[in-house]
Amino acid sequence: LADRSLVVVSNREPYVHDYVDGEPTVERPTGGLVSALDGVVAETGGTWVAWGSGDADFDPQVAPDGRVEMPPEPVEADEEGEDDDRPGYTLSRLDLPRRLVENYYYGYSNQVLWPICHLEADPVTVDPAFADAYREANRRFAERAVEADPDVVWFQDYHLALAPQYVREARPDARLVQFWHVPWPTAEFFEICPQATELLRGLLGNDAVGFHLERYAANFRDCVARFVPEATVTDAGAIRYDGRTVETHASPIGVDGDRVARNAASDAAEHYWERVVARYDLREERSVVLGVDRLDYTKGIVERLDALSHLLETNPELAGEFTYVQKGTRTRERIPAYRRYYDEVRARIADLDRAYGTEDWTPAIYIEEDIDDRELAGLYRHADVAVVSSRRDGMNLVAKEFAAAQGRPAPTAGLAPEANGAPARDRVPGALVLSRFVGAAESLCPAALSVNPYDVGGFASMIREALEMDANERRERASAMRASVEATDIDAWLAAQKRVLAGGERVVADD
Ligand code: UDP
Repeated sequence: LADRSLVVVSNREPYVHDYVDGEPTVERPTGGLVSALDGVVAETGGTWVAWGSGDADFDPQVAPDGRVEMPPEPVEADEEGEDDDRPGYTLSRLDLPRRLVENYYYGYSNQVLWPICHLEADPVTVDPAFADAYREANRRFAERAVEADPDVVWFQDYHLALAPQYVREARPDARLVQFWHVPWPTAEFFEICPQATELLRGLLGNDAVGFHLERYAANFRDCVARFVPEATVTDAGAIRYDGRTVETHASPIGVDGDRVARNAASDAAEHYWERVVARYDLREERSVVLGVDRLDYTKGIVERLDALSHLLETNPELAGEFTYVQKGTRTRERIPAYRRYYDEVRARIADLDRAYGTEDWTPAIYIEEDIDDRELAGLYRHADVAVVSSRRDGMNLVAKEFAAAQGRPAPTAGLAPEANGAPARDRVPGALVLSRFVGAAESLCPAALSVNPYDVGGFASMIREALEMDANERRERASAMRASVEATDIDAWLAAQKRVLAGGERVVADD
């Protein structure tokens, strides 16, 4: 891969310029995926094409045409003053008009594709302007990718289903690869999408399409077999299309477990937790049940609050025994379904308080402030139970981060346990209640307690089981979860992606 020109294309940009007190400042979204991709593009000296979403992205002081040269990632060697001959990369930002963003991003991507991929029919809103904007935006991303004269193009996610076909038309010789970060639905469900065939043809412009789970890849091949008459799906799981072979593969994304564990053991994590305890008067003797989510209807937060309410109704002796802490982040608020969801979550939390709260006990608290990943790890570390209850979720990284934050099961030789992110000897790890409808359940269960979030009674009993789990069982389960997080971490995912990107000779179908 190193001697080939790599172009990464994603909707979101890795660096955002915004104005703070009138001056452009750069902000780097946290998150393992962005830094992982950043490293790959920097290694090859390639180009990253993305929508320039920041207010100051096109400021003359920054770069009037949106193209910025990014230095290579700082590594320890640099800090010691050694020369760095890695090339860095070009961040090539698209200046998309507001109306296009409205219809392409908030419209087609998030009111058609997002709900369909998550098997949610109700929020699907098909405005004809959405599909036109999606085509137009995909064309612009594709044109910008072609301008960079790529050998290999790596498309990220569901915002870019048509771009591969557009790039293929201009560059039949380039290697095109896509990773689809959300689930792929069953053919029965995908059929409700009016552009089903067009989207599949767009994706078949790639040489390889990746998913988190084999199940999603199988659904994709099923959709191709049903809705693209000129394509053939082979017994080996490849697709013959347009004189080429398109491979499909599954590789589950993961987190940097050691980093999360170090964050969880940091002073910043501890100080944040102390602030939360003081602010909400959390008592030592009460267990903490934690939820961490973007406020998205796919996350099953309402189902979780219903289960908590059912738990208290059917087990009155649990009143005052725990506090539910919801860390929430508002998201996609231009979309009515998301605004309604936010209101509903807040209302359910208030209902819990009204029904069960007492003078000295608030059953559920809601935290919305922005916190960094060390502070978040402090919440993970101090939770006795975490609940991830998505109705449907491609992978769910919160579940893996929670597991990693419980620390290493056994300290690594030569390091003090805390320095290594390991739990102090007497620390009992938290238990995880996990929806069986998330990708992470495939590796984390049965060490995590599996639930069907639609089954309010079963869900409530499982939260009770998690609250009452003894220390030995918690340790055993935490250790198994940590081992699985390590086996499928972000490095393993990246290594698999690099193999797919490097590819080798493109396989040409012989018929
Ligand atoms: N996250 C966060 N604050 C929040 C909620 C989520 O920092 O209030 C982070 C979380 O640590 C994780 C990511 O956002 O890294 C969410 O990834 P996940 O796969 O769980 O769900 P997504 O939001 O991508 O659908």
